[in-house]
Amino acid sequence: MKLNYYIVIFLLSLCLGVVGYLSYQKSTIEQSPGENDYTFKEVSYTDEEKKISKELEVHACEKGTMQSPIQIEYKNVLLEDAPKINIHYEKEPVVLIKQRNQFKVYSKSNTSFISVDNEQYKFHSFHFHLPSEHQIENQNYDMELHLVHENEKGDHAVIAVFIKSGEENEAIKEIWKFIQDENMNEKEMDSFNLLQLIPEVREGYYYSGSLTTPPCKEGVDWIVFEEPIEFSIEQITMFRDVFGHTNRPIQPTNDRKIFKITIN
Ligand SMILES: [Zn+2]
Repeated sequence: MKLNYYIVIFLLSLCLGVVGYLSYQKSTIEQSPGENDYTFKEVSYTDEEKKISKELEVHACEKGTMQSPIQIEYKNVLLEDAPKINIHYEKEPVVLIKQRNQFKVYSKSNTSFISVDNEQYKFHSFHFHLPSEHQIENQNYDMELHLVHENEKGDHAVIAVFIKSGEENEAIKEIWKFIQDENMNEKEMDSFNLLQLIPEVREGYYYSGSLTTPPCKEGVDWIVFEEPIEFSIEQITMFRDVFGHTNRPIQPTNDRKIFKITIN
């Protein structure tokens, strides 16, 4: 009788252990971060679908041949046959959300968009990296802004803007207050003008790359502005104190074409 009792206890603890391990595994899969990890649509995946997407992600990040960021060297830049880039930004309501070691600003209305040749990509969200991810002639900037856009097929186009130390930036003051507030994880802003973050000189570079965080998906249109915008030393230091370094190292260009572009 006593032996049976011990067997039952043993089997029960074994079951609990297995259930605990399985739910641990599930939560680590679900916690995978990405450029596009917040969405207003609810999507649920089966365990098999999650396994396949995890394998594709590891494959792209480690073995992809068109990864981002890259080094831009003037001698490799093509001056003709670039795609036509247009920006159509409007003031729009946004929501600021903290996610582990990053924070993002998401569009709530999806009214702003850009076009690459005739393909339209709606503005989705923006976030920052420190130091810059892309380099021009071996030089990093203090930070880099990524404005992420998505078309109807789920393909992405990202605008990258370098940030150097200089004048205090008025446009990000409220967002920086939110970052510093440890009691706040989410905040809505009725109106934010994305054009405040776009440099005056509308010139830069275009190439085809990838998301710079898992799933490192390729086929992303990159538009990298040449002229940086400015944040004050205090604003840059504050970001560094909260998030630390968040840049992915330079990836091989592998003979990809980099075009000089004018952005309209
Ligand atoms: Zn990014």
